[in-house]
Order: sequence, then structure tokens, then C-alpha cells
Amino acid sequence: MQPIRIAHIDLTAFFVSVERLLHPEWVGKPIMVAGKADHRGVVTCASYEVRKFGVHAGMATAIAQRKCPIAIRVDSHHDAYEEHSRKVRTYLKQYAPVFEPASIDEFYIDWTGCEKLFGGSIVSFAEKIQKNILEQFGLPSAMGIASNKVTAKIACDNAKPYGIKEIAPGAEAAFLEPLDVKVLPGVGEVMLKQLHQFNIRTCGQLAQLTPEFVEENLGMWGLHIQGYAQGNGSHELSVAREQKQISTEETFARDTRDKKFLHQTLHEMTLKLSEILRHSEIKARCIHLKLRYADWVDQTRQMEISPTHDPAVIYKKALQLLAKADTRGLPIRLIGIGLSRFGEEEAALDLFDEDNTKREHMLKAVDGINSKFDKTIIQIGTAE
Ligand SMILES: [Mg+2]
Repeated sequence: MQPIRIAHIDLTAFFVSVERLLHPEWVGKPIMVAGKADHRGVVTCASYEVRKFGVHAGMATAIAQRKCPIAIRVDSHHDAYEEHSRKVRTYLKQYAPVFEPASIDEFYIDWTGCEKLFGGSIVSFAEKIQKNILEQFGLPSAMGIASNKVTAKIACDNAKPYGIKEIAPGAEAAFLEPLDVKVLPGVGEVMLKQLHQFNIRTCGQLAQLTPEFVEENLGMWGLHIQGYAQGNGSHELSVAREQKQISTEETFARDTRDKKFLHQTLHEMTLKLSEILRHSEIKARCIHLKLRYADWVDQTRQMEISPTHDPAVIYKKALQLLAKADTRGLPIRLIGIGLSRFGEEEAALDLFDEDNTKREHMLKAVDGINSKFDKTIIQIGTAE
């Protein structure tokens, strides 16, 4: 079997990079994209020159300006960021059999089985892609390559600001071992405090604990995160499995009826899917839920919804579907969420208008969506 190779690409200090394309005089200067201090603004992106002073995204502008008085504050320009993100997406998709736009500046690509296609080395191919993104679009990036999405993203963080880091198949746990547990997704403040109580500070320390200890003291969510620390994680990209659907599913380390854990998993999934909708500029009108019980019997439910890409709405509907589907009282092995019946953001509003010309527009828009959809969401060249 071919080793799984997932690449995570992150555009470095993306908002700052775009601002520098718009204002070349800011290249090399300490820039931060941030709201106004007197409007209780926060920093959304700081250049590395500003980060040196301890400024980071999410910090109040007032504090950031105290830490780095020389920083040039810039208002954000989301239309420009979207436009540049779209260009990079279009470019990357040419070299990606399976592609997931995880956020405005982060992308996953499944390059499994592409070594030969790329002349033997994924890393040297990745270097070319990175160089092209810089030369064609003026955007620096970092890349991580590993056997699953979580490890690839952490490898990418490790390669920042401008590097490429590949974790060889089987070397995931060794790579993660010395790293702070904070790098693992799902380790928030509460989990971090709990881990520190047990004197667990590195991924390696978490990886070595017995599953019994982890489950008893940190719950199902803790077990889940321990899996990440051990170098495990999903390699399934959220792309269309059948025409016009995006979905994601997760098989648990252990069958469970832990409601809190199931809800948390659904929450994470709906956040991710809604983000893909927003970056594809579409809304969904149908939500599907799949449960697989411990005896491998699947239960599915689906529901029509008003066109939305709002994670809160989708999560609420997902919980309703879970309540409907979960009738057997058996431990659950797998949970999955899918979204379908897409419409373009504006077209979706028109659905409620009876006016004929508007309907014409709507139909045209739907055609547009279909062609756009084929290109943006449907996986190219892989049979499922
Ligand atoms: Mg970034």
C-alpha cells in the first residue's frame, strides 16, 4: 500500500502579506492588521517584525501598541484577502487530486501515491509549489507533510515562517514527542490545566499514559487527544464523496455513549464543514447524519434546512438529527455529518422570491454553481 501523504499549506502572516502586496512600501516594516485601539479592536494578523515584541493574533490592539509602539496598524480588507485566497486555491487544485480549503489561508492536499507523478520526491515537488505561490502571487507559505492531517498541520507550524517539514511515515510519534501538548488540537485552557495537574507537558508524556488512566482522568476527549499525541489522526479530507455533498466522519478509538464527547465531536465537525462552505461561497440546504453502532449497523437521518453556512445553525440541526437517529442505546463506533443541496449565497435568497426574472437569475446562478462546484469541491481523479 502507498504511504499516506497529506500536505498542509499555510500562507504565512497572510493578511499582512496581502497588505504588503497592496502597499509595497510596507515590505519589511512592522505591520499589524488590527482594529482601532479606541474601538476595543484586536489584532487579526501581525508581521514577524511585530511578533518579536510578543504581539500575537487575538491580542487587544491597545496592548499590542504598548508592546510594539513602532507597529503600523492597518485596517483589514477582507475582500482583498478572499480574492488572493481564491487565486491560490485555483492554483493549488491543479496539483491536488484531493483538496480541502480548511480556512482562508490554510489548505490540505492528499498527495498519496503522487511520488512517481512528481518525479520521485514529494518534498521537492512541494518546494516548487511553494516557490510558484511566492513568485506568481507574491505570497509566502509554509508546508507540513505527514500521514494524517493533525500531524501535517503541526509539522507546518514547525516549518513556519517559510519552510517545509516532512514527517516520514512511522516517524510521527517521535516528531511530536518533545513538543508542548499545547500544539495538539482540542487542548484548550481547561484541558491544559488538567494535563499540568498530572505534570504532563509534552506530547510524548501524554502519549505514554495508559488509556485507562487517560479515560478515567481526562475522559473520552482526553483519549481522543492522546491519539493525536501518538501521531494518529484522520487523513480523510472533507471533499465531496458523491456529487454535491461535503462530509466528514470519524471512527472513535473506542465505542462510546459519552454524550458530551459526541456533542463536542459534532461541534468540531460542523465548524469545519461550515468553514468549507464559506470559503466555497455556498450555503447548504440539507444536512445528513450517520451513526455506526458497535454492531456495525448504520443509522442515518437527514433534514432540510434554510440555506445556511452558519456553524451554530448547522450544529443545532446536527444535535436534533443525533437525537432522532440515536434510538438503539448501543455504544457508537462512528459519527459522520454531511451537507448537500448547495446554492450560491445570493441565489439562496432568491429561492423565496416568486418574481420570474429573479427566478431566471436564480437558475443561471444554479448553473454557475454546478460548474463552479465541479471545480471546487468535487475531488478530481480519485474514485470513491
Ligand atoms: Mg497563515
